[in-house]
Amino acid sequence: MKYISTRGQMEPVGFLDAVMTGLASDGGLLLPASLPDVSGKLAAWKDLSYQELAFEVMRLFATDLPPADLKALIEKSYSTFRVPEVAPVIPVDGFHVLELWHGPTLAFKDIALQFLGNLFEYILQKRGGRLNILGATSGDTGSAAICGVRGKKNIRIFIMHPKGRTSPVQEKQMTSVLDDNVFNLAVEGTFDDCQHLMKSIFSDVEFKEKHSLGSVNSVNWARVLAQIVYYFYAAFRVQETTGAKQVQFAVPTGNFGDIMAGYIAAKMGLPVKKLILATNENNILSRFFNTGVYSIGKVVPTLSPSMDIQVASNFERYLYYRTGQNAAKLCELMNGFAKNKSLTVPGADDLFAAGEAGTAQTLAVIKKVYEQEGYTLDPHTAVGVVVAERLGRAILPKAPPVIGSDEERTARRSVPTICLATAHPAKFTDAIQQAIGIAAHHPVLDKLASAETRCDTIANDESAVRDYLVRKT
Ligand SMILES: *Cc1c(COP(=O)(O)O)cnc(C)c1O
Repeated sequence: MKYISTRGQMEPVGFLDAVMTGLASDGGLLLPASLPDVSGKLAAWKDLSYQELAFEVMRLFATDLPPADLKALIEKSYSTFRVPEVAPVIPVDGFHVLELWHGPTLAFKDIALQFLGNLFEYILQKRGGRLNILGATSGDTGSAAICGVRGKKNIRIFIMHPKGRTSPVQEKQMTSVLDDNVFNLAVEGTFDDCQHLMKSIFSDVEFKEKHSLGSVNSVNWARVLAQIVYYFYAAFRVQETTGAKQVQFAVPTGNFGDIMAGYIAAKMGLPVKKLILATNENNILSRFFNTGVYSIGKVVPTLSPSMDIQVASNFERYLYYRTGQNAAKLCELMNGFAKNKSLTVPGADDLFAAGEAGTAQTLAVIKKVYEQEGYTLDPHTAVGVVVAERLGRAILPKAPPVIGSDEERTARRSVPTICLATAHPAKFTDAIQQAIGIAAHHPVLDKLASAETRCDTIANDESAVRDYLVRKT
């Protein structure tokens, strides 16, 4: 399988090169040159374990990786998860929760970053060389990235966070990792300052190459690939218990990474009726799917901070398909967006339904599900549930539609909804406290209170960060 750039100006590369490259050299994002049709394989796949299924899905895309090595990487990556199913599906009244947070940092990003960390280590071992990962985080991504590469050979990781501005739990999750290859930098500034420092350093190509700097951001194809697996896995689990032919997914989204994986799964032939896209008040994506206009707003802080994003870094991949895989048209759209901070795509995509959940609705649904079901949703997951409830009604009308046979009507009403649960509630215990008046706990996080930490404070100054990197890489 070869990988091409959405902007069409790059020679196709293999999977391993695509993983090491991250971003395409023409500024675009990498995508497989074609998508395999697996609709004929679903029956054979439905009883596989998570790891077996991951192997079957990933081998179609990672054709330059020897199968035995891919298998070993998958086994290693998911052995750190606390449950054998990796991503269990829990029935809650009226919908199904896909728990994606059983990895080491209790957030769904572990599913991709545990795999990516092992894959980086493997590629460096095969090809030689080293990698110094530089990243900026406001919380979740930093700890999942650190956990993905801690203790790995030939890899060091430098994560900048805004000093005193991440939640205490998130800060502890990062700074309590004491492996020699992990460097936490508390920057005397805001998250924007951290991001600015990172972008500015990466734009110095000479410095970047000299110090083998790389990133683990969500545009890396391996991250999308690892996430495709659980759409298949969850659909099989729900089909098994409900007998449904089709399913739909509600996905709380920020960077369009998670839901992009669902889109690819649907394009590969998984019977997905709808992808329900849910945003918080930072609603650039839900506005796009409802109006066709993609235009930047101001970032506002919410209860679901991992989705407080205005420009969705993975969205270009979707636009590429939406323009009929027309790189020239895509370039035109993206250039227009760079200039005007806005782009418009005519028409609609029937696969998607989109909506937004505000603070009050998010808190109310956490309370309702807790009171009725005894199940605690984290605030990100809750955003997805709010939108699924609202749109589920539109998608699955309570009153039988007047057209269609009885059978068709029943089928239409009985498409089960799978809500992706992207974090354990204890990671966002302030929101849980607000919603139900009780703090959420998890032993992994409780233990952090007394954990030893290591972190270096650094000025919000590019030359200070560069000096640090020169000393430590
Ligand atoms: C990153 C994150 C999201 C958003 O995922 P995208 O791939 O950026 O859409 C949602 N919930 C949690 C808890 C996250 O950490």
